[in-house]
This record gives sequence, C-alpha cells and structure tokens, in this order.
Amino acid sequence: MTDGATVMHDVHELAQVVVVGSGAGGAVVARELAARGRDVVLVEEGGFFTGKDFSGNPRAMIDLLYRGRGLTGALGRPTIPIPLGRCVGGTTTINSGTCYRAPDYVLDEWAERCGVRGAREPDLRPYFERVEQELHVRPVPDETYGRNSTLFERGAAALGYAGARIPRNERGCLGTGVCAFGCPQDAKQAMHVSYVPRALDAGARLFTRCRVGTVLLSAGKAIGVVGRFVDRDDRETGHELRVLARHVVVACGALLTPALLERSAVPDPSGLRGRNLHIHPATRVGALFDEEVRGWEEVPQAYNVHHFTREGIFIQGQFVPPAMEAPVLPGVGRAHKEIMARYARLGSFGALISDESAGRVRAGRGRFPRVSYQLGAADAKRLARAIGLTAEIFFAAGAREVYSGAHSRPVLRSLDEARALQGANLPAADFEMMAFHPQGTARMGEDPRQAVTDSVGRVHGTPGLWVGDASLFPSSCKVNPQITIMALATRLAERLAGEL
Ligand SMILES: Cc1cc2nc3c(=O)[nH]c(=O)nc-3n(C[C@H](O)[C@H](O)[C@H](O)COP(=O)(O)OP(=O)(O)OC[C@H]3O[C@@H](n4cnc5c(N)ncnc54)[C@H](O)[C@@H]3O)c2cc1C
Ligand code: SF4
Repeated sequence: MTDGATVMHDVHELAQVVVVGSGAGGAVVARELAARGRDVVLVEEGGFFTGKDFSGNPRAMIDLLYRGRGLTGALGRPTIPIPLGRCVGGTTTINSGTCYRAPDYVLDEWAERCGVRGAREPDLRPYFERVEQELHVRPVPDETYGRNSTLFERGAAALGYAGARIPRNERGCLGTGVCAFGCPQDAKQAMHVSYVPRALDAGARLFTRCRVGTVLLSAGKAIGVVGRFVDRDDRETGHELRVLARHVVVACGALLTPALLERSAVPDPSGLRGRNLHIHPATRVGALFDEEVRGWEEVPQAYNVHHFTREGIFIQGQFVPPAMEAPVLPGVGRAHKEIMARYARLGSFGALISDESAGRVRAGRGRFPRVSYQLGAADAKRLARAIGLTAEIFFAAGAREVYSGAHSRPVLRSLDEARALQGANLPAADFEMMAFHPQGTARMGEDPRQAVTDSVGRVHGTPGLWVGDASLFPSSCKVNPQITIMALATRLAERLAGEL
C-alpha cells in the first residue's frame, strides 16, 4: 500500500486490471481478482483509516471521512444532501452496516423490463452467499438491540405491520451507535477491514490519496488511468500516478463514475450515462416518549419494517448523535432547546422510499459533478405516506408527539394526525430530505441502445472498460444496496478473471 501524500515523484505502473475506487464495488472486484491470481492495482482518492483513527465525534469524522466534508448532494426543490465516503472503504466505512439482498421481484424486473441477463435470484444467490459469509452477516443480537428499536417493534406489531431485526455485517459490535462516523471498534465489516486487506494479502497494490482524473483511451479501447496524488489537506502534490492496464474498472460510486467517464470522453452510445439517478429519498422522523429511550446505547439501525417494501416504502432505525438530530427537529430558540433537552427521551426512525423519479449527473466544472434531482408528485405522496406510517407506529408504541420532517406539519400529536399525513398531497419542497443510496447512472442491460454497460458491467462500445459499482442498477433496488453491489462486483470479477 502506498500513501499518495508521501509520494515525491511520478509513478508509472503496469497491471492486468486497474480498479478505481475502494468502496462496496471496487474493493470486492480488487479482492476477487487478486484472489484468482490476477495482477491488480486499486486506486482510492481518500486516505486509509481504521478504528484507532475514529473518535466517534461527528464533526471531526465527517471532515476526515466524508467527501466535501459531508456537503455533497443534488440540486432541486428542495436540495437533497447525499453524503458519500471518501476514504479506503468508500461509503461502507461510514454506513450503518445493514445488509439486504435485492428482492427477487426487483431482479425479475431488471431481467424483464431492463434486458439484464443472468442476474435473477438463482443466478445471484451464490454471490450473495459468498459476500454474506465474507462479511459475517447476522441479525442484530439482543445485547445491542436497544430501546429505540424495541419500542418501534412493539408499535409495528400492535398495528400488524411486518418487520424484523436487521442483518448486519459485524463482528463484536458493542452498540456504540456511531457507525456513520467510522466504527471505533472496527466491528463493522466495512471494506477497509474486510475486502481491502484481503485484496492486499492476495497481492493487490493499493494507492491511496490519488484522485483519478482520466481514463486513458487508445483506438477506442481503455488502456489505463491517470491520477494525481493529494496531500493530507487534499491539495494536489504535483505528482501523478499513471497505470497502464489491459482492463479498467471504474467504481467511484453512482455520482462520480459517470462524471469520470464523461470527463475522459468515453463514448456514450445510448446517451443514458449519468441519467436514471435514483437515491431513495429519506426523512428522519423523531418521537418524544415519556420514558427514557437513550437511543445512543444501541445499534442505530437495528429494526426494519418491510411490510410496505413492495409499494416502495421501507422504515428503519436511524438514531443519530445530537449534532445531527438538532437540525431536523422543529422550532427555533427556546422551543428547539426544550426538545433537545429531552434528547434522552427521543426515538428516531428513517422513512425511506424507493423512488420512480430520476435525476441526472453531469461532469460539471468543479471536482464534484453537477447533480440534479427533482422528486415527482407520486414520490412526494409516497414519502408523505411513509412518514405518516412511521408516525403511526411511534404513536402505537406510546409516543407523546412525533416530529415529522414535513415543514407544513412539523409536530404531530395524535394517531389521527399521523393517518391524515399518510394520504396527504404535499409538494416535494415541504420535506426535510436526505438520501444515502445513489444508484443507476450507468445502467446495465444487453441492449447498447438502452443501457450503458452489458449485464456484467462492460461499457458498451469501449473494450477494456468496466463499471463495478451502484451505477449499474437499472432501477431502484428497493432496499439498502451494498450487498447487491458487492454480489454484482463478485460476479464481474469472476467474468473478468475468466477473460484474462
Ligand atoms: C450514512 C450512510 C449510511 C448508509 N448505510 C447503509 C447500510 O446500512 N446498508 C447499505 O446497504 N447501504 C448503506 N449506505 C449506502 C452504501 O454504503 C453505498 O450504497 C455503497 O457503499 C456504494 O458503493 P459504491 O461502490 O457504489 O461507492 P462507494 O462505496 O461510495 O465507493 C466509491 C469510492 O470511490 C472513490 N473515488 C471516487 N472518485 C474517485 C476518483 N476520481 N479517484 C479515486 N477514487 C475515487 C471514493 O472516494 C470512494 O471511496 C449508506 C450510505 C450512507 C452515506
Ligand atoms: S454500533 Fe457497532 S458497528 Fe456501529 S459503531 Fe458501534 S460498535 Fe461499530
């Protein structure tokens, strides 16, 4: 492993495969290729950090681990923050550890509507199983399942809504509640403690703090990449990394992969690159209980209501530290202070929707691409329903009041108000939204007129170039995406290794 900040000269490398990005997709591709004896260089823009670097302090960790200090997002009404990891492990280093496979009916839709071949449930099952075994996925155990989750589970059960404990990738989780800021115990099996070290053990070479700016093309074929090393303050050092390789796998995530391809002037025969951006818009819903919840003493995302997944709604734990919770609670001045003073009695869950609205990514002028996304009316209605359902569950669990994240009715005080919200037609701008699952901007499919890559990830029209991340999803995967990204990446690596 080479830390780009310490490199004092230009570096030229040869490899069979160069992989750009070490998140859910890139780390798996690198490891699976290296384990098959292939010669791999993995390039990551961020630094390499582990539990000893993670203090659990949100502000400091966002500066260390998040792209743009957490200020990335999509422009629209409203603007939607979309946080991304920028470190070895990518967004897996800052995620919640929730592990779901894309449901069978989503994979069937990809086959039937989007022309994806060989990715139905029986095809992907062995890859899902392999990933889950590698990451030690298991449901949240009793010891780290706390009051926020227990109360919500009780409310859902009272209403007859199906839900379950969430399967997570962890070994020895202590329930310290700061997964989104780097796990101080390295219990969460993010890529920087699982696939990346295993890739290195198998012989892969990793360059950190190296920002790839161009995919090199020769006679229409991808032949390598050029990146620039950056120092610990993210300033370019003036030295470059040039890797020549027989294959290039771009796995920068759904917001950065299409931008890198566009900047590199990679042909886009379908005209679909950067389009079809889905993000799973989400709103955090808070609830005030009479009893203490102390939601920081547990796994923050431990219980999921899957009763409504087919209609595009999933409701799951989302407890965050005070600094993150404060902006989404209602009121200002004394009123806001009074709610924050009751933080120990707050419950918090996220209402997420599987969106039909689609945004767009363009390379833009600066380093971060221009991302636009407008939530459509049908999705706004679905989000109102999702929030209303979350509120209903909180009331059934005994909440005294609920903080909805909808500006026009920030505080709900009864079951009736929660149910009224379920059918409300509110404009998109009424919601305090965030999104955590960008996907779909280099959609896969066999038809080069309707997809950016083939069903495995080869970019149509550019031999030697592959996409290996969340960009591949042809439509919303309807659940948290990391396991599906990793399963597809495992399959991609197997095929690519075969070609080599
Ligand atoms: C707070 C939060 C919680 C989440 N919780 C969950 C969860 O519990 N379960 C789940 O399934 N999903 C969760 N997600 C989403 C999940 O982590 C992502 O969907 C997944 O990591 C995306 O994988 P990826 O490979 O597409 O991109 P990423 O994991 O984002 O990896 C992309 C990598 O590429 C690097 N990169 C980008 N551009 C360049 C460049 N030009 N040169 C070099 N390197 C570059 C980036 O720095 C990054 O490391 C969460 C997301 C967030 C933000
Ligand atoms: S809750 Fe578990 S996985 Fe999350 S940061 Fe704490 S120990 Fe790590």
